[in-house]
Amino acid sequence: MTNTPHLINGQEVMPADSKTAEVENPASGEVVARIPLASTAEVDQAVGAAKTAFESWKSLSLSRRVQILFRYRELLNARKDELAAIISREHGKVHSDALGEVTRGLEVVEFACGLPHLMKGSATQNASTAVDVTSSRHPLGPVAIITPFNFPAMVPMWFTPIAVATGNTVVIKPSEKDPSAVNWQVQLWKEAGLPDGVVNVLHGGKDAVNGLLHHPDIEAVSFVGSTPVAQHVYQTGTSTGKRVQALGGAKNHMLVLPDANLDRAADSAVSAGYGSAGERCMAISVVIAVGDIADELVNKIAERTRGLTMQGDNPDMGPLISRDHRDKVRGYVDGAEAEGASLVVDGRTWSESDQPEAAFLGPTLLDRVTPAMKAYQDEIFGPVLAVVRAETYDEALELINDNPYGNGTAIFTRDGAAARHFEMDVQVGMIGVNVPIPVPMAYYSFGGWKNSLFGDTHAHGMEGVNFYTRGKVVTSRWGDPAEGGLELGFPQSN
Ligand code: NAD
Repeated sequence: MTNTPHLINGQEVMPADSKTAEVENPASGEVVARIPLASTAEVDQAVGAAKTAFESWKSLSLSRRVQILFRYRELLNARKDELAAIISREHGKVHSDALGEVTRGLEVVEFACGLPHLMKGSATQNASTAVDVTSSRHPLGPVAIITPFNFPAMVPMWFTPIAVATGNTVVIKPSEKDPSAVNWQVQLWKEAGLPDGVVNVLHGGKDAVNGLLHHPDIEAVSFVGSTPVAQHVYQTGTSTGKRVQALGGAKNHMLVLPDANLDRAADSAVSAGYGSAGERCMAISVVIAVGDIADELVNKIAERTRGLTMQGDNPDMGPLISRDHRDKVRGYVDGAEAEGASLVVDGRTWSESDQPEAAFLGPTLLDRVTPAMKAYQDEIFGPVLAVVRAETYDEALELINDNPYGNGTAIFTRDGAAARHFEMDVQVGMIGVNVPIPVPMAYYSFGGWKNSLFGDTHAHGMEGVNFYTRGKVVTSRWGDPAEGGLELGFPQSN
């Protein structure tokens, strides 16, 4: 077991009298790390370090800032396997999946390397006689980044590179369930030449979060996690005058029309439903089979689901994040069965495997699920795929639009007009057409609608640049000094 300390102003901080929490490897139940839980004093220390570092960091030239990002990109690319191993050890996801997460995070670093172009303002000469106007964007100050357990490296990377490149300083509060990936990344930032204090790490749970939300020197908060906490973070952060983007939970539906290629649709449902044990905010958790394809589609999904393995050298998926969470997910399967869903593939036997301390649960396929069932209504966040049968496209669309979440969705069809109709009418932020997990590239922005996001701004892309900067417009007159004179009327162009 190792200690994963706070990282404040480039120093490891692990106060002897700190409360601590243990981090388990959910594939074995072994305790692999221990973190300190931040007290108010450490919140102040971390924010103080970020505030002090801001004074010089914001003034460093854009070229110098970006050179550090290029170095960080090279280091991370060369050493991404190390980071993937840390993710697997604390989160439990399989190595290829962990590597995928790092690669998607790297995309944001690469996007942020182009920041000088993205920070360019605009200029108008002679807007009025001898009057010029320029606009420019400026960093905010110390910002907080609060992240969930399911992407311990990628979600921090959605925000940190852009926050830093735009000239802000950062306090990251990672999930207490798998915190070490962030420490590793921040040590790498130091190696890339980032000055101490520009990115700090504070460990802890809700007290650390609330400390940041109430701290007067934190200017903005980027949060990702479950919907109730996202709502709390948004309300508290905005009530204390901060800029807040708070991304919440999801219940992503995949709509399959009768003309779809059912083999492709089944492959996609299984990959997107059970990848990372269903612990992705863009996981597909509901498949809506439209018309008379339902039996055939369910058979194809079932056949593939039964072929998945969690053992051997090349497992398809790992355990859930904890035994408590595994038991909660099992409870949803029990409940769905009791409420009348058909249990096509039952993954519950896996949890009685020969490793009682591990948090495995096998992939489960439920058919004939209805909107009245709890397994339909809640975000389960586990390897449970629910099939709902709908008679028509309109009925399927209504189901998606009635759902309180609006993170991701997908349609599978060969009909371009139907796909276009779906794109226009579905009330969801990220849409896939024959693509099951439509996570936008880093140069677009990631974010859902409705209860999947509180605030106006999505993550990364230009929305990220705008979130971490505020604008100034300068209007100047450099005319002939001889052309003066009083003018008390409201200024107009001439
Ligand atoms: P979580 O809400 O429990 O925790 C997220 C963060 O908030 C953690 O850092 C945690 O320490 C902190 N936190 C927890 N409870 C708190 C409280 N009461 N007050 C203040 N802070 C608190 O989420 P999780 O279980 O770590 O992550 C899974 C959730 O995140 C799922 O709902 C998933 O859909 C969501 N998620 C959403 C996105 C997205 O982009 N919309 C991406 C990834 C995960």
